[in-house]
Amino acid sequence: MEKSDRKMWIGGKWVAAQGGKTRDVISPADGKVLAKVPEASADDVRSAISAAREAFDTGPWRNSVARDRGTMLFKIAEAIRANAKELAETDSLNMGKPIVEAEFDAGDAAHCFDYYGGFCTKLEGKTMTVPDNALSFTLREPVGVAGQIIPWNYPLLMSAWKIAPALAAGCTVILKPAEQSPLSALMLADILEKAGVPEGVVNVITGDGPVAGATLVSDPRVDKIAFTGGGEAGKMIIKSAADSMKRTTMELGGKNPNVVFADCDFESAVDGALFGAFANQGEVCSAGSRLLVDKTIYKQMCEALKEKVKRVKLGHPLERDTKMGPLVTAEHRDRVLSYIEIGKKEAKLLCGGGAPKDPALAKGFYVEPTIFVDAHNKMRIAQEEIFGPVLTVIPFSDEAEAIQIANDTPFGLAGAVWTRDVTKAIRVLKQIRAGILWLNTYHPTYNEAPWGGFKQSGFGRELGPWGLEEYLETKQININLTEAPLGWY
Ligand code: ADP
Repeated sequence: MEKSDRKMWIGGKWVAAQGGKTRDVISPADGKVLAKVPEASADDVRSAISAAREAFDTGPWRNSVARDRGTMLFKIAEAIRANAKELAETDSLNMGKPIVEAEFDAGDAAHCFDYYGGFCTKLEGKTMTVPDNALSFTLREPVGVAGQIIPWNYPLLMSAWKIAPALAAGCTVILKPAEQSPLSALMLADILEKAGVPEGVVNVITGDGPVAGATLVSDPRVDKIAFTGGGEAGKMIIKSAADSMKRTTMELGGKNPNVVFADCDFESAVDGALFGAFANQGEVCSAGSRLLVDKTIYKQMCEALKEKVKRVKLGHPLERDTKMGPLVTAEHRDRVLSYIEIGKKEAKLLCGGGAPKDPALAKGFYVEPTIFVDAHNKMRIAQEEIFGPVLTVIPFSDEAEAIQIANDTPFGLAGAVWTRDVTKAIRVLKQIRAGILWLNTYHPTYNEAPWGGFKQSGFGRELGPWGLEEYLETKQININLTEAPLGWY
């Protein structure tokens, strides 16, 4: 396979799009074309669905020995580790994240396969005590063919979060990476092929949302859609999936509160505020994009942020001292810049506020880390997900107001609290309506723990045993132990 001219992996074969259409994959660091990938038509997607359907219905995977499935997942984890450097560089170049962050993603992706590999031998049912002379028990069975649609902000990691639990459950998969960042998913497909995943069990199609994604969602042969992305696409997917009663899981956006009380460890909170907002260029659904600060330390916090944000070094994503890379596309950069203009009218700009002046960065889609202060929660920059390096800092008077502001959002994905008062911490953490919360830290994410949101941040959970559940059906079997006719008639 030519490195610059990629193919899709369908039914165990590397194929071009049937009509020969391709899409240029652009590096956001300089706007250059990194590769061409096939642009899947609806027919291409249907052939991937046929392959996954056949592999599920008649192939070996679903009925494979659980221990062998586990061994296969461990092998994939090892291969990801062996190729971690190239995978990390690919994501970094393809969507702009700093290489050091991409390396963490590659490590987490490998561990995700290890984690679910261990689960294969632990898919256990139950026996029930029933009011009959009968044995009643449950089996856990794979949900079937899973369509998996992922975004561009964590291309490799999202591929792992989707594929690993599905394979552990015995499902077959069609993965559609985001059109902006398909390269690491294709590399992962290569790893899966070499590890010996049987043909059709995993298929990776490259294409857009309206054609490729939508075909995957509407086809009745797909049993489940796992989606991570924006709310608008999520709502369309839920509606379309309803026609064939598909199971869906939705990991959507957030406008997450990062709540700093006056009795916190101040320097840690400053670090946490910046890391929460600017890791991965702020292109994170769980970003701490609303910083709620006790008004008694508000001024001090704004000064500290203004000083320390200077250390968020913009640079080429492959340079090891880069702390923030370019945004994923010129179009997304422009959208973020337009929010910054809205912010300048609504609140006070503390720092940043546009594209950087450095000529070395002129060709990339960079935005300065931007902080707005003297904001309140009704502003658009406090309510709408910007998905870029923009932090809105809002003062609060007391614990009750902090909780009220934290929850005054349509979203409920993540959030954090900074305080040394343990009982206050627990009170506040319990009151925040969100699925992922941190105390005195921001962003650590564990393959072992459930990931997902409340409210309009979606439903269902990934990772941990919860993530596996989403790929399993529960079947009850009842065995009559009385060897006599029913005697009903
Ligand atoms: P963003 O706005 O951050 O790019 P999207 O939600 O549009 O996020 O995209 C996330 C993923 O969903 C991508 O893989 C994209 O191709 C896909 N997608 C977008 N729209 C649809 C749709 N209508 N049906 C299915 N998939 C879609």
